[in-house]
Amino acid sequence: MLNSLSYKTDQLLNQLDRVKQTGQGKWLARCPAHDDKSPSLAIKEVEDRILLHCFAGCGVAEILNAVGLHMDDLFPDRVADPYDPAPRMPKFSAYELFPLLVQEAIILALACNDFMAYGVLANADYLRAQQACQCVMRLHAEVSR
Ligand SMILES: [Zn+2]
Repeated sequence: MLNSLSYKTDQLLNQLDRVKQTGQGKWLARCPAHDDKSPSLAIKEVEDRILLHCFAGCGVAEILNAVGLHMDDLFPDRVADPYDPAPRMPKFSAYELFPLLVQEAIILALACNDFMAYGVLANADYLRAQQACQCVMRLHAEVSR
């Protein structure tokens, strides 16, 4: 049982793209469950579990499915207890989400610049800007929970 949490985390990170460590036990990576151009998946080790959050809106089950892991893999050290309800997921701190916010803000700023310069946005840019808006709103919801 020696650190099966880091074993599981490694197993997860090995399957992800563009993994970037953002602190002790914290990473950002491309989400495997959607066509993620820039990393929008936050991964974090908290005590006995791994937290996952895709800021483009993918569910944890979809993300796990995409890398062939299961919900149990996120709680490797947890002793099975049928009477114990699933633990409440602690939220991510604003500090941890800051790189994501900056990334989405840059996308919005570029789209805004283009729009002001040309009065129009290419369809792909429009869709990405729309996604950035949703991501910012989700980040807001996450830190004001
Ligand atoms: Zn996703």
